[in-house]
Amino acid sequence: MPAIYLDHNASTPQLAAVTRAQLPFLDGPRGNPSSVHAAGRVARQALEEAREQVANLLGAQPREVVFTSGATEANNLALLGVTAACNGGLILSAVEHPSVAKAADHLAGSGVSVARLPVDAEGRVDPGDLRRLLQPGTVLVSVMLANNETGVLQPIRELSAVCREAGVLLHVDAVQAMGRLSVDVGDLGADLLSLSGHKMHGPAGIGALWVRQGVSLAPLLHGGGQESNRRSGSENVAGAVGLGAAACHAAEAQERLQNDLAGLRDHLERRLLELWPTAVVHGAGAARLSNTTLVGFPGLDGEAAVMRLDLEGVAVSLGSACSTGTMRSSTVLAAMGVPESLAAGSLRFSLGPDNTRAEIDEVVQIFQRALTPSAPAEVLA
Ligand code: PMP
Repeated sequence: MPAIYLDHNASTPQLAAVTRAQLPFLDGPRGNPSSVHAAGRVARQALEEAREQVANLLGAQPREVVFTSGATEANNLALLGVTAACNGGLILSAVEHPSVAKAADHLAGSGVSVARLPVDAEGRVDPGDLRRLLQPGTVLVSVMLANNETGVLQPIRELSAVCREAGVLLHVDAVQAMGRLSVDVGDLGADLLSLSGHKMHGPAGIGALWVRQGVSLAPLLHGGGQESNRRSGSENVAGAVGLGAAACHAAEAQERLQNDLAGLRDHLERRLLELWPTAVVHGAGAARLSNTTLVGFPGLDGEAAVMRLDLEGVAVSLGSACSTGTMRSSTVLAAMGVPESLAAGSLRFSLGPDNTRAEIDEVVQIFQRALTPSAPAEVLA
């Protein structure tokens, strides 16, 4: 682990309590939850308890929770599953994660009608635009709760009202909000919601799609009919148990975390803007996750800066890290109308519960030494 980890939107450290909960299912006889013998029943009980823990975090019913291999699968299942079962079109925002955006491209390629909701300069969608884009054949709208690059929050309740009025389902990718905001599916007015273990201090390779009871969903995977015919394949019991433990922790920690991190994040932004007065905090005018800031530094070579900070033991990222290890320009910033030159000099700092004010001050010092205009020329574009 680098000395200072500020890349929690890419992945979060797994909690010791999560690992402890998982251990009996990693180290010992492994039952299949579908087996009727005692080992199978132990696995089944653990799986169902985990389902209940995830449902509790969301204010949902356990039978509405479908375990998946992560949020990429959950998002694909939501988009492909609903458009197939309801035989209709999709609207998504222009700032969705690639696991939504590329699934939508795939659907468009197979003849499904797909439309994109624009965002304003702060990265927010407008419910009025959604109303205008809806067509008689639209069956699903997919808009994320919190953006992974900017942290900008979308007006999900207002979007839900538009969807309800039109009789259209609403899918919400809540991956970045889990454990950072209180997420209640009833309150949000969502019909489907995706989450991911490794973004909420749980294990990687496990996630869930919450599907409101009564919503029709065609499965992506065909086989043994697990997860009430919605996701075939022997379940990842240890992963689910870890996700359940992470959900319990999130429920108890999220409010405190939100306040603590907002203070740290604001401090970081203030210090960076003092150092680089022309810097821009993307989405600063919108409601945002309290742990995330995406800052554009005019004239900075972001790619070189990420590598330079890495050499100094600081982990940050340039836009979304999930798509690759390669550095690519941000479709999110492009959708917000940010010029390519500023996007290329934009760094994402995403904080977590273990970050301290001393770490933030150290990062600012390193930044000043290594990256400000008086720094070596190779990091300046
Ligand atoms: N949605 C968002 C908003 C994300 O940030 C990510 C991960 N970067 C995903 C979906 C995909 O999650 P997973 O890694 O569990 O496939």
